[in-house]
Amino acid sequence: MYFDRFETAGAVLSIDLDQVAANWQALNQATPGANCAAVLKANAYGLGAVPVAKKLAATGCRVFFVAHIDEGIGIRKLLPTDCEVIVLHGAPPGGERVLREENLIPVLNSLPQLQAWSKLAQDSQRRLPALLHVDTGMARTGLAAQDVARLADTPGAWNGIDLRYVMSHLVSAEIQESPLNAAQRSEFARLRALLPAARASLANSSGIFLGSDFHYDLARPGAALYGVAPVKGQPNPMRPVLRLQAKVIQVRDIAAGTPVGYGATWTAARPARIATISAGYADGLLRSLSSRGVAYWQGQALPVVGIVSMDTITLDVSALPRHALQPGDPVDLLNEQQTVDTLAAQANTIGYEILTSLGNRYCRRYLNT
Ligand SMILES: *Cc1c(COP(=O)(O)O)cnc(C)c1O
Repeated sequence: MYFDRFETAGAVLSIDLDQVAANWQALNQATPGANCAAVLKANAYGLGAVPVAKKLAATGCRVFFVAHIDEGIGIRKLLPTDCEVIVLHGAPPGGERVLREENLIPVLNSLPQLQAWSKLAQDSQRRLPALLHVDTGMARTGLAAQDVARLADTPGAWNGIDLRYVMSHLVSAEIQESPLNAAQRSEFARLRALLPAARASLANSSGIFLGSDFHYDLARPGAALYGVAPVKGQPNPMRPVLRLQAKVIQVRDIAAGTPVGYGATWTAARPARIATISAGYADGLLRSLSSRGVAYWQGQALPVVGIVSMDTITLDVSALPRHALQPGDPVDLLNEQQTVDTLAAQANTIGYEILTSLGNRYCRRYLNT
């Protein structure tokens, strides 16, 4: 199903690809001496992997990360041949051949993944590229320290493998004063010393802002490309990328004492005017925004009242002049005034979850493709 017509759409999501490109350029300039990749997993955090990949390749980005093989296949063929597409999860057992045939580069996260990739390389009498992920404090993916030590004692473990980078991932990079950052960095140095000499990669978006000690040879930003603030408690240096507008379906006047929405959780204390807009939790406007979030109309905040429904949200528009808001008028849920981070704070989550929850029945408009 496509929702690409403004006239019939309930809500419109505008994605300004010039802003994504500007964010990548800013991050690339912030990491002199290192390459700057782009992380496009989860459909480029919900923005659309294909248009984002094309734009960033045209901007000069040459290294792209995805999480799944199928995500990699989705962008590999449309990128220039000198681009690399790296699959963070590597191959599930049996998936190695598809990786090779589709010209994707795995991150090897475990000894079995390393062994399977080495075996495929030797069977096909080719050197196959890979990254090695070592765990420095997340216990999620990557070789544990004892696996790295074991690997160092295993002759021939690297047969057939062209090790492009050794990488790790930071757990609290957005908190600059966290002692975990330096601890992970020194563990990374210790583990790298046990491995064949290779280039290194540690920084996600926030890691870039920890300074040049964290840049190594390849930075891996995702969220900051899409406008999420990389440093907690500091002004956001990234440019906003999104505008989300939902159309008013209906406006009604209610008497004092009238309840609004499921569960009758909100009741008008005085006579009020309610506008119902055409977006809800099915579109990624989380239910936790119930009676907490706001929408904007010409700069004025309109509070969400009552429970967020699947397809609708009710706003208290009593503060507006009587006929200001009409059916069909778009109100803003995301714009420069209300960024993904502000909306996330109201929904008690993080910008990442707001982005990756963005619905697929919005009329999507890509600006500056
Ligand atoms: C998602 C991810 C990134 C990108 O992180 P951001 O915080 O979005 O910049 C980088 N590296 C790994 C291993 C990831 O999983």
